[in-house]
Amino acid sequence: MLHPKMHCPRLALGLGFCLLVGMALYCLWVYVESSLPVSYVPYYLPCPSIFNMKLQYKGEEPFQPVAQSQYPQPKLLEQKHTRLLTLTPWLAPIVSEGTFDPELLHHIYQPLNLTIGLTVFAVGKYTQFVQRFLESAERFFMQGYRVRYYVFTDDPTVLPRVPLGPGRLLSIVPIKRYSHWEEISTRRMETISQHIAESAHREVDYLFCVDVDMVFRNPWGPETLGDLVAAIHPGYFAVPRQQFPYERRHVSTAFVADGEGDFYYGGAVFGGRVARVYEFTRGCHMGILADKANGIMAAWQEESHLNRRFISHKPSKVLSPEYLWDDRKPQPPSLKLIRFSTLDKDTNWLRS
Ligand code: UDP
Ligand code: MN
Repeated sequence: MLHPKMHCPRLALGLGFCLLVGMALYCLWVYVESSLPVSYVPYYLPCPSIFNMKLQYKGEEPFQPVAQSQYPQPKLLEQKHTRLLTLTPWLAPIVSEGTFDPELLHHIYQPLNLTIGLTVFAVGKYTQFVQRFLESAERFFMQGYRVRYYVFTDDPTVLPRVPLGPGRLLSIVPIKRYSHWEEISTRRMETISQHIAESAHREVDYLFCVDVDMVFRNPWGPETLGDLVAAIHPGYFAVPRQQFPYERRHVSTAFVADGEGDFYYGGAVFGGRVARVYEFTRGCHMGILADKANGIMAAWQEESHLNRRFISHKPSKVLSPEYLWDDRKPQPPSLKLIRFSTLDKDTNWLRS
Protein backbone atom coordinates (compact mmCIF):
# COMPACT_ATOMS: atom_id res chain seq x y z
CA MET A 1 0.00 0.00 0.00
CA LEU A 2 1.25 3.51 -0.88
CA HIS A 3 1.99 6.05 1.76
CA PRO A 4 -0.48 9.05 1.41
CA LYS A 5 2.43 11.51 1.33
CA MET A 6 3.98 9.68 -1.63
CA HIS A 7 0.62 9.99 -3.54
CA CYS A 8 0.53 13.83 -3.81
CA PRO A 9 3.64 14.58 -5.88
CA ARG A 10 2.75 11.73 -8.30
CA LEU A 11 -0.72 13.11 -8.75
CA ALA A 12 0.63 16.61 -9.29
CA LEU A 13 3.17 15.27 -11.80
CA GLY A 14 0.42 13.35 -13.64
CA LEU A 15 -1.86 16.39 -13.78
CA GLY A 16 0.97 18.60 -14.99
CA PHE A 17 1.79 16.12 -17.74
CA CYS A 18 -1.84 15.97 -18.88
CA LEU A 19 -2.01 19.75 -18.93
CA LEU A 20 1.15 19.92 -21.04
CA VAL A 21 -0.13 17.35 -23.55
CA GLY A 22 -3.47 19.18 -23.73
CA MET A 23 -1.75 22.48 -24.42
CA ALA A 24 0.42 20.90 -27.11
CA LEU A 25 -2.61 19.35 -28.83
CA TYR A 26 -4.49 22.65 -28.69
CA CYS A 27 -1.55 24.55 -30.25
CA LEU A 28 -1.27 21.90 -32.98
CA TRP A 29 -5.00 22.25 -33.76
CA VAL A 30 -4.80 26.07 -33.93
CA TYR A 31 -1.82 25.78 -36.29
CA VAL A 32 -3.47 23.20 -38.57
CA GLU A 33 -6.75 25.13 -38.67
CA SER A 34 -5.07 28.39 -39.61
CA SER A 35 -3.05 26.79 -42.39
CA LEU A 36 -6.09 25.14 -44.07
CA PRO A 37 -7.60 27.08 -47.00
CA VAL A 38 -10.83 28.78 -45.95
CA SER A 39 -13.89 28.20 -48.11
CA TYR A 40 -17.09 30.00 -47.17
CA VAL A 41 -19.02 29.95 -50.41
CA PRO A 42 -20.69 26.50 -50.27
CA TYR A 43 -22.54 27.38 -47.10
CA TYR A 44 -24.23 30.44 -48.56
CA LEU A 45 -25.28 29.48 -52.05
CA PRO A 46 -27.78 26.83 -53.04
CA CYS A 47 -25.56 24.64 -55.20
CA PRO A 48 -22.57 23.44 -53.19
CA SER A 49 -21.28 20.68 -55.47
CA ILE A 50 -20.21 22.98 -58.29
CA PHE A 51 -17.97 25.03 -55.98
CA ASN A 52 -16.08 22.02 -54.80
CA MET A 53 -15.30 20.75 -58.27
CA LYS A 54 -11.88 21.57 -59.62
CA LEU A 55 -11.05 20.58 -63.14
CA GLN A 56 -7.92 18.44 -63.28
CA TYR A 57 -5.89 19.86 -66.09
CA LYS A 58 -2.27 20.75 -66.47
CA GLY A 59 -1.17 24.20 -67.46
CA GLU A 60 -0.89 27.60 -65.95
CA GLU A 61 -3.65 30.05 -65.22
CA PRO A 62 -4.25 32.02 -68.40
CA PHE A 63 -2.94 35.55 -68.27
CA GLN A 64 -5.84 37.95 -68.25
CA PRO A 65 -5.11 41.64 -68.68
CA VAL A 66 -7.58 43.87 -66.89
CA ALA A 67 -9.22 46.08 -69.46
CA GLN A 68 -9.52 49.78 -68.85
CA SER A 69 -13.18 50.70 -68.88
CA GLN A 70 -12.96 53.79 -71.12
CA TYR A 71 -11.96 53.20 -74.73
CA PRO A 72 -13.68 53.62 -78.12
CA GLN A 73 -16.06 50.91 -79.30
CA PRO A 74 -14.61 48.68 -82.05
CA LYS A 75 -16.78 48.74 -85.19
CA LEU A 76 -17.22 45.52 -87.14
CA LEU A 77 -18.22 47.29 -90.34
CA GLU A 78 -15.37 49.26 -91.85
CA GLN A 79 -15.87 52.52 -93.69
CA LYS A 80 -17.42 51.24 -96.93
CA HIS A 81 -19.82 48.91 -95.10
CA THR A 82 -18.82 46.00 -97.30
CA ARG A 83 -15.70 44.87 -95.47
CA LEU A 84 -15.48 43.54 -91.97
CA LEU A 85 -12.91 44.39 -89.32
CA THR A 86 -10.35 41.56 -89.06
CA LEU A 87 -8.74 42.27 -85.70
CA THR A 88 -10.13 43.43 -82.35
CA PRO A 89 -8.35 46.24 -80.43
CA TRP A 90 -6.95 43.51 -78.11
CA LEU A 91 -5.54 41.68 -81.15
CA ALA A 92 -7.93 38.77 -81.42
CA PRO A 93 -8.70 37.74 -85.01
CA ILE A 94 -12.27 38.26 -86.24
CA VAL A 95 -12.99 35.31 -88.49
CA SER A 96 -14.90 35.75 -91.73
CA GLU A 97 -14.71 34.45 -95.29
CA GLY A 98 -11.53 35.69 -96.97
CA THR A 99 -9.50 36.18 -93.78
CA PHE A 100 -8.04 32.66 -93.75
CA ASP A 101 -6.82 29.91 -96.08
CA PRO A 102 -8.91 26.78 -95.38
CA GLU A 103 -6.40 24.46 -97.01
CA LEU A 104 -3.46 25.79 -95.05
CA LEU A 105 -5.41 25.57 -91.79
CA HIS A 106 -6.39 22.01 -92.63
CA HIS A 107 -2.73 21.06 -93.10
CA ILE A 108 -1.88 22.62 -89.73
CA TYR A 109 -4.76 21.19 -87.69
CA GLN A 110 -5.34 17.81 -89.32
CA PRO A 111 -2.15 16.13 -87.95
CA LEU A 112 -3.00 17.25 -84.39
CA ASN A 113 -5.67 14.57 -84.16
CA LEU A 114 -8.03 16.84 -82.26
CA THR A 115 -11.48 16.00 -80.99
CA ILE A 116 -14.04 18.79 -81.14
CA GLY A 117 -17.09 18.65 -78.88
CA LEU A 118 -20.43 20.25 -79.67
CA THR A 119 -23.13 20.67 -77.01
CA VAL A 120 -26.81 21.32 -77.65
CA PHE A 121 -29.86 21.30 -75.44
CA ALA A 122 -33.09 19.76 -76.64
CA VAL A 123 -35.69 19.98 -73.89
CA GLY A 124 -39.43 19.67 -74.39
CA LYS A 125 -40.60 20.82 -77.81
CA TYR A 126 -37.05 21.66 -78.88
CA THR A 127 -36.34 17.96 -79.49
CA GLN A 128 -37.95 18.50 -82.90
CA PHE A 129 -34.89 20.52 -84.00
CA VAL A 130 -32.34 17.77 -83.33
CA GLN A 131 -32.67 15.94 -86.63
CA ARG A 132 -32.06 18.96 -88.86
CA PHE A 133 -29.36 20.22 -86.57
CA LEU A 134 -27.40 16.95 -86.57
CA GLU A 135 -27.87 16.30 -90.30
CA SER A 136 -26.52 19.74 -91.14
CA ALA A 137 -23.66 19.37 -88.65
CA GLU A 138 -22.73 16.06 -90.28
CA ARG A 139 -22.42 17.88 -93.58
CA PHE A 140 -20.62 21.03 -92.47
CA PHE A 141 -19.29 20.99 -88.88
CA MET A 142 -15.57 20.17 -88.59
CA GLN A 143 -15.50 17.86 -91.60
CA GLY A 144 -12.50 15.51 -91.43
CA TYR A 145 -12.04 15.87 -87.66
CA ARG A 146 -13.11 13.77 -84.73
CA VAL A 147 -16.35 15.18 -83.40
CA ARG A 148 -18.33 14.38 -80.30
CA TYR A 149 -21.88 15.67 -79.97
CA TYR A 150 -23.41 16.05 -76.53
CA VAL A 151 -27.19 16.29 -76.67
CA PHE A 152 -28.68 17.24 -73.31
CA THR A 153 -32.31 16.22 -73.21
CA ASP A 154 -35.17 15.44 -70.85
CA ASP A 155 -36.48 12.75 -73.19
CA PRO A 156 -33.86 10.53 -74.87
CA THR A 157 -36.55 8.26 -76.34
CA VAL A 158 -37.78 10.83 -78.87
CA LEU A 159 -34.36 11.68 -80.30
CA PRO A 160 -33.93 10.66 -83.95
CA ARG A 161 -31.22 8.26 -85.11
CA VAL A 162 -29.04 10.29 -87.41
CA PRO A 163 -26.29 8.29 -89.15
CA LEU A 164 -22.87 9.67 -88.21
CA GLY A 165 -19.69 9.73 -90.27
CA PRO A 166 -16.47 7.96 -89.24
CA GLY A 167 -14.81 9.39 -86.14
CA ARG A 168 -18.02 11.09 -85.05
CA LEU A 169 -19.84 10.13 -81.86
CA LEU A 170 -23.01 11.17 -80.10
CA SER A 171 -23.57 11.15 -76.34
CA ILE A 172 -27.06 11.65 -75.04
CA VAL A 173 -27.01 13.23 -71.60
CA PRO A 174 -30.33 12.99 -69.72
CA ILE A 175 -31.22 16.12 -67.77
CA LYS A 176 -34.14 17.28 -65.67
CA ARG A 177 -36.89 19.25 -67.32
CA TYR A 178 -37.48 22.71 -65.91
CA SER A 179 -40.93 24.09 -66.47
CA HIS A 180 -40.08 27.56 -67.71
CA TRP A 181 -38.09 28.17 -70.90
CA GLU A 182 -36.03 30.89 -69.18
CA GLU A 183 -34.98 28.37 -66.54
CA ILE A 184 -34.04 25.84 -69.23
CA SER A 185 -31.81 28.31 -71.00
CA THR A 186 -30.14 29.70 -67.84
CA ARG A 187 -29.40 26.21 -66.58
CA ARG A 188 -27.17 25.57 -69.57
CA MET A 189 -24.05 27.20 -68.07
CA GLU A 190 -24.35 25.06 -64.95
CA THR A 191 -25.03 21.86 -66.88
CA ILE A 192 -22.18 22.38 -69.33
CA SER A 193 -19.62 23.18 -66.65
CA GLN A 194 -20.67 20.16 -64.63
CA HIS A 195 -20.52 17.91 -67.65
CA ILE A 196 -17.04 19.16 -68.59
CA ALA A 197 -15.77 18.47 -65.06
CA GLU A 198 -17.37 15.05 -64.96
CA SER A 199 -16.38 13.73 -68.36
CA ALA A 200 -16.05 16.02 -71.37
CA HIS A 201 -12.64 17.38 -70.33
CA ARG A 202 -11.22 13.91 -70.92
CA GLU A 203 -13.05 13.40 -74.21
CA VAL A 204 -12.53 16.56 -76.26
CA ASP A 205 -9.86 19.18 -76.88
CA TYR A 206 -12.17 22.00 -77.94
CA LEU A 207 -15.83 22.47 -77.15
CA PHE A 208 -18.50 24.61 -78.83
CA CYS A 209 -21.84 25.24 -77.15
CA VAL A 210 -24.67 26.21 -79.46
CA ASP A 211 -28.46 26.55 -79.74
CA VAL A 212 -30.36 23.65 -81.26
CA ASP A 213 -32.90 25.72 -83.24
CA MET A 214 -30.24 26.32 -85.89
CA VAL A 215 -28.71 24.72 -88.98
CA PHE A 216 -25.28 24.67 -90.56
CA ARG A 217 -25.38 25.92 -94.16
CA ASN A 218 -21.68 26.20 -95.04
CA PRO A 219 -18.40 24.79 -93.73
CA TRP A 220 -17.41 25.46 -90.12
CA GLY A 221 -13.79 24.36 -89.78
CA PRO A 222 -10.56 24.73 -87.78
CA GLU A 223 -10.52 28.50 -88.41
CA THR A 224 -12.95 28.68 -85.47
CA LEU A 225 -10.61 26.99 -82.98
CA GLY A 226 -9.18 29.19 -80.26
CA ASP A 227 -8.72 29.39 -76.50
CA LEU A 228 -11.94 31.28 -75.86
CA VAL A 229 -14.27 31.98 -78.77
CA ALA A 230 -17.27 34.33 -79.01
CA ALA A 231 -19.61 35.05 -81.91
CA ILE A 232 -21.00 38.48 -82.80
CA HIS A 233 -24.80 38.62 -82.54
CA PRO A 234 -26.48 39.16 -85.95
CA GLY A 235 -28.81 41.82 -84.58
CA TYR A 236 -26.29 44.30 -83.18
CA PHE A 237 -23.14 44.40 -85.30
CA ALA A 238 -23.89 47.87 -86.67
CA VAL A 239 -25.22 49.40 -83.47
CA PRO A 240 -23.56 51.78 -80.95
CA ARG A 241 -22.69 50.02 -77.69
CA GLN A 242 -25.11 52.20 -75.69
CA GLN A 243 -27.92 50.44 -77.55
CA PHE A 244 -26.68 46.91 -76.87
CA PRO A 245 -29.32 45.03 -74.84
CA TYR A 246 -26.97 44.46 -71.91
CA GLU A 247 -28.31 44.12 -68.39
CA ARG A 248 -28.38 47.73 -67.17
CA ARG A 249 -29.53 47.31 -63.57
CA HIS A 250 -26.69 47.76 -61.06
CA VAL A 251 -28.10 45.08 -58.77
CA SER A 252 -27.40 42.35 -61.33
CA THR A 253 -23.94 40.77 -61.60
CA ALA A 254 -24.42 41.05 -65.38
CA PHE A 255 -24.56 44.86 -65.19
CA VAL A 256 -22.76 46.72 -67.98
CA ALA A 257 -22.27 50.50 -67.93
CA ASP A 258 -23.09 52.69 -70.95
CA GLY A 259 -19.48 53.28 -71.94
CA GLU A 260 -18.50 49.61 -71.69
CA GLY A 261 -18.60 46.78 -74.20
CA ASP A 262 -16.88 45.73 -77.40
CA PHE A 263 -19.29 43.70 -79.51
CA TYR A 264 -22.65 42.31 -78.51
CA TYR A 265 -22.11 38.56 -78.56
CA GLY A 266 -24.77 35.93 -79.12
CA GLY A 267 -25.58 33.44 -76.39
CA ALA A 268 -26.28 30.86 -79.11
CA VAL A 269 -22.58 30.24 -79.93
CA PHE A 270 -19.48 30.18 -77.77
CA GLY A 271 -16.59 27.80 -77.28
CA GLY A 272 -12.88 27.28 -76.98
CA ARG A 273 -10.39 24.95 -75.37
CA VAL A 274 -12.35 22.71 -73.04
CA ALA A 275 -10.59 23.97 -69.89
CA ARG A 276 -11.31 27.58 -70.83
CA VAL A 277 -14.95 26.77 -71.58
CA TYR A 278 -15.13 25.20 -68.14
CA GLU A 279 -13.86 28.36 -66.44
CA PHE A 280 -16.14 30.47 -68.61
CA THR A 281 -19.36 28.54 -68.00
CA ARG A 282 -18.54 28.23 -64.31
CA GLY A 283 -18.04 31.98 -64.03
CA CYS A 284 -21.33 32.68 -65.79
CA HIS A 285 -23.09 30.16 -63.57
CA MET A 286 -21.76 31.90 -60.44
CA GLY A 287 -23.15 35.21 -61.70
CA ILE A 288 -26.51 33.62 -62.45
CA LEU A 289 -26.59 32.05 -58.96
CA ALA A 290 -25.79 35.35 -57.28
CA ASP A 291 -28.60 37.03 -59.26
CA LYS A 292 -30.97 34.24 -58.30
CA ALA A 293 -30.10 34.70 -54.64
CA ASN A 294 -31.15 38.34 -55.11
CA GLY A 295 -34.30 37.45 -57.02
CA ILE A 296 -33.09 38.87 -60.36
CA MET A 297 -33.27 37.44 -63.86
CA ALA A 298 -30.94 39.30 -66.24
CA ALA A 299 -32.47 41.02 -69.29
CA TRP A 300 -31.44 38.28 -71.73
CA GLN A 301 -30.79 35.56 -69.17
CA GLU A 302 -27.50 33.78 -69.76
CA GLU A 303 -26.68 35.88 -72.83
CA SER A 304 -26.44 38.88 -70.48
CA HIS A 305 -24.03 37.03 -68.20
CA LEU A 306 -22.02 35.80 -71.17
CA ASN A 307 -21.68 39.35 -72.46
CA ARG A 308 -20.69 40.66 -69.04
CA ARG A 309 -17.98 38.04 -68.75
CA PHE A 310 -16.59 38.57 -72.24
CA ILE A 311 -15.93 42.23 -71.34
CA SER A 312 -13.54 41.29 -68.53
CA HIS A 313 -12.40 37.97 -70.05
CA LYS A 314 -11.84 38.92 -73.67
CA PRO A 315 -12.32 36.19 -76.28
CA SER A 316 -9.08 35.18 -78.01
CA LYS A 317 -10.98 34.72 -81.25
CA VAL A 318 -14.19 36.34 -82.47
CA LEU A 319 -16.47 34.80 -85.06
CA SER A 320 -18.24 37.18 -87.45
CA PRO A 321 -22.03 36.89 -87.86
CA GLU A 322 -21.36 34.33 -90.64
CA TYR A 323 -21.16 31.90 -87.75
CA LEU A 324 -24.31 33.11 -86.03
CA TRP A 325 -26.90 34.39 -88.41
CA ASP A 326 -30.70 34.54 -88.31
CA ASP A 327 -32.87 33.33 -91.20
CA ARG A 328 -35.38 36.06 -90.49
CA LYS A 329 -32.88 38.70 -91.66
CA PRO A 330 -31.81 39.33 -95.26
CA GLN A 331 -28.14 38.54 -95.93
CA PRO A 332 -26.23 41.87 -95.97
CA PRO A 333 -23.52 42.56 -98.63
CA SER A 334 -20.84 42.56 -95.89
CA LEU A 335 -21.42 38.81 -95.27
CA LYS A 336 -20.19 36.63 -98.12
CA LEU A 337 -21.78 33.49 -96.79
CA ILE A 338 -23.87 32.18 -93.92
CA ARG A 339 -22.44 29.19 -92.10
CA PHE A 340 -24.79 28.71 -89.16
CA SER A 341 -28.22 30.23 -88.82
CA THR A 342 -31.29 30.36 -86.59
CA LEU A 343 -34.39 28.83 -88.14
CA ASP A 344 -37.51 30.87 -88.45
CA LYS A 345 -39.54 29.32 -85.63
CA ASP A 346 -42.86 29.75 -83.92
CA THR A 347 -41.54 31.17 -80.65
CA ASN A 348 -44.94 31.57 -79.02
CA TRP A 349 -45.86 27.94 -79.60
CA LEU A 350 -42.42 26.68 -78.48
CA ARG A 351 -42.51 28.60 -75.24
CA SER A 352 -46.14 27.86 -74.41
N1 UDP B 1 -34.12 25.21 -75.03
C1 UDP B 1 -34.74 23.95 -74.97
N2 UDP B 1 -36.04 23.88 -74.57
C2 UDP B 1 -36.76 24.97 -74.25
C3 UDP B 1 -36.14 26.24 -74.31
C4 UDP B 1 -34.82 26.32 -74.71
O1 UDP B 1 -34.12 22.96 -75.27
O2 UDP B 1 -37.93 24.85 -73.91
C5 UDP B 1 -32.72 25.29 -75.44
C6 UDP B 1 -32.54 25.06 -76.93
O3 UDP B 1 -31.30 24.47 -77.17
C7 UDP B 1 -32.56 26.48 -77.47
C8 UDP B 1 -31.82 27.22 -76.37
O4 UDP B 1 -32.22 26.58 -75.16
O5 UDP B 1 -31.93 26.57 -78.72
C9 UDP B 1 -32.12 28.72 -76.30
O6 UDP B 1 -33.48 28.99 -76.36
P1 UDP B 1 -34.10 29.72 -77.64
O7 UDP B 1 -33.49 29.19 -78.88
O8 UDP B 1 -35.60 29.65 -77.55
O9 UDP B 1 -33.61 31.22 -77.40
P2 UDP B 1 -33.44 32.33 -78.53
O10 UDP B 1 -32.41 31.84 -79.50
O11 UDP B 1 -34.78 32.49 -79.18
O12 UDP B 1 -32.96 33.54 -77.76
MN1 MN C 1 -32.10 29.90 -80.36
